[in-house]
Amino acid sequence: MVSGNAIRGSRVGAGPMRWSERGEQAPRQEVTYWCANGHVTQPSFAADVQPPPLWDCPRCGLPAGPDETAPPAPPRAEPYKTHLAYVKERRSDADGEAILAEALAKLRQRRA
Ligand SMILES: [Zn+2]
Repeated sequence: MVSGNAIRGSRVGAGPMRWSERGEQAPRQEVTYWCANGHVTQPSFAADVQPPPLWDCPRCGLPAGPDETAPPAPPRAEPYKTHLAYVKERRSDADGEAILAEALAKLRQRRA
């Protein structure tokens, strides 16, 4: 199967070869990031680019930082709650029933 791929690759022509040569010439820097779950990711950047301070872990989505001993803390759950979750948290069940009753009363008034 390797020889098959080699044949297919050689048929593409000079374009891809030139591209890979250029890629080798461009200086790259590899930056290692650690997430709070201990995953390591090593994206590479052009050498003249300032690497970002945080990188999203491709395995769990948590922010990853360049310091292995102090990975960025996982974001708190609150910002990712849905609006409905916020509403449910703020309002007790009794409040919810009162609001529901009020809404039903308004509906009935409108129909009457
Ligand atoms: Zn992770």
